Amino acid sequence: MALFQISEPGESPEPHTRRLAVGIDLGTTNSLVATIRNAVPECLPDSDGRAMLPSAVQYAEDGEIVVGGAALKHRGDDALNTITSVKRFMGRSVADLRDESAARYQFTTPSGDGKGQLKITTRQGAISPIEVSSEILKALKRRAEETLGGELYGAVITVPAYFDDAQRQATKDAAQLAGLNVLRLLNEPTAAAVAYGLDQKAEGTFLIYDLGGGTFDVSILRLTRGVFEVLATAGDTHLGGDDFDAVLAKYAFDTWALTRALSPAGQANLSAAARAAKETLSTETSATIKVNWGCGFDSSVDVSREKFVELSQPLVDKTLSAVKRTLRDAKLKANEIDGVVLVGGATRMPHVRAALESIFGKAPLATMNPDEVVALGAAIQADQLAGNKTGDGDSHLLLDVIPLSLGMETMGGLVEKIVPRNSTIPVAKAQEFTTFKDGQTAMALHVLQGERELASDCRSLARFELRGIPPMVAGAARIRVTFQVDADGLLSVAALETTSGVRAEVTVKPSYGLGDGEIASMLQSAYASASTDMQARALAEARVDATALVQAVTQALAEDRALLNDNEAAALTSQIAFLKQLAEGSDHRAIVRATEDLNRASTDFAGRRMDKAVKKALAGKTLDQIV
Ligand code: AMP
Repeated sequence: MALFQISEPGESPEPHTRRLAVGIDLGTTNSLVATIRNAVPECLPDSDGRAMLPSAVQYAEDGEIVVGGAALKHRGDDALNTITSVKRFMGRSVADLRDESAARYQFTTPSGDGKGQLKITTRQGAISPIEVSSEILKALKRRAEETLGGELYGAVITVPAYFDDAQRQATKDAAQLAGLNVLRLLNEPTAAAVAYGLDQKAEGTFLIYDLGGGTFDVSILRLTRGVFEVLATAGDTHLGGDDFDAVLAKYAFDTWALTRALSPAGQANLSAAARAAKETLSTETSATIKVNWGCGFDSSVDVSREKFVELSQPLVDKTLSAVKRTLRDAKLKANEIDGVVLVGGATRMPHVRAALESIFGKAPLATMNPDEVVALGAAIQADQLAGNKTGDGDSHLLLDVIPLSLGMETMGGLVEKIVPRNSTIPVAKAQEFTTFKDGQTAMALHVLQGERELASDCRSLARFELRGIPPMVAGAARIRVTFQVDADGLLSVAALETTSGVRAEVTVKPSYGLGDGEIASMLQSAYASASTDMQARALAEARVDATALVQAVTQALAEDRALLNDNEAAALTSQIAFLKQLAEGSDHRAIVRATEDLNRASTDFAGRRMDKAVKKALAGKTLDQIV
């Protein structure tokens, strides 16, 4: 995620032509919409004064679609038709799901192999996560247009930093379906940094600590010359404020020495009471967990803040381990972090803030509402992209970077990286490839995303073919492959054979995506396996060279065996067999040595073939004809 500032002189319209633009934080549990009013970013509340819209959609019996708090009420009694946490399913296939929250729904998949984008079976039919998200976005759009009194010009929508191509595309599709003009998809930690005005600084390194209701993310961003780069990221998609509620609920349950398991309604009552107590403990030194079980029967227990800290310390420690891991990954010490930004309601807990302060030696930035900071940053960005004049009159655009490298598979199952990770976008890069075999008229192109050296370790994004290459000797064709990534991180690839002008193109729209954890672990494994990867690359390269030489010498023997005596032919044949056998093994040094040996042994033979070819070319010609 990078912020790149481009001055746009003369682009800002006059104040009376101000366009209505919003920032939308499309969250797992809650979503928000914000805009700039009177030069200040602010979240827009609903008619009851609530800014947060629960990210819940119910496909009701009467054919109605209910969104937000009203839908959330039916999570218990109409579970299959009430969709929550749909963000976890965006751009995913059934085969990708490992999430227990998935167990609550019935899924279908269009392709039948579990690999296409999944759909959720409801009484109103099979609904895609894109459609569910679009209902949330429609509700926010309606709220914004009613509040602002006009049609929206456009919106910036935030996504987790490591959402991959498929997840970003799904988010953009949802917005388009909701009738929103997407000005830009913006990474969530980048948005938080923008809300605090960190993009206005000359440079710095910032840690964004995001503890929401059910998810935890930490990212380290470095700002240099106007570009924010992601140095490291970590997180836990199943750790959040809800887990803190659970430790308090367990404490109450144990204190009351309840002997029977609670009914779902009893459990919901206890969780709500625990959550209320937790939130009280952020400002008070003690709170009461009080549950009314009905029929005049209730229970209560007092909890001190000290007790709560003791009970929940293991959860805080878990987040701190992730923080330390990102510091290690980024090769930074805590004192090299210039600022810590808090995101997510659960960062209001004082012991979370104190723990961060003790690691970094300075208080985290906490002047903004942590629930709203991402939406506010997105609103600032939306205002600029809409061409509205900002307070300081300095209009600039922010550009992101791509989270994982994009490349092509080459011979031997290797990956040639074409757009490296963290490249600022939009970006277009081209590279030339050539044919491997004589007379090759088609070429299969395989587009990959990931940091590893081998294609099999990266994510396959798309395959396409370039056909109609004129037959040429191996290595003579010039195939120019261009990767273009637009401002939202979406990729299109084109291949052009430059001597003939034959073209093939594909817009990469993968059918499923990667989770943030998966991307983090792919990066992790890329770092961890750098040396194994180098060996794998060396082996694959050695095999490619060996195979090419074996093919060439075998072909030469078939054509010109007569130029060799029996001993010479037998020696070459046995060296070919030996090299073929080695190439099936994994000792790349032995393959390289045997390739060099065969190369040397066949040099004389190659010379004789050359003489023969020259003699044939010269036969019957006079000197005049040759010179
Ligand atoms: P979010 O997903 O950002 O809306 O985060 C919601 C989480 O923040 C829930 O677990 C809330 O209980 C928690 N939260 C909200 N306010 C407070 C507070 N004052 N103290 C502690 N946790 C809070």
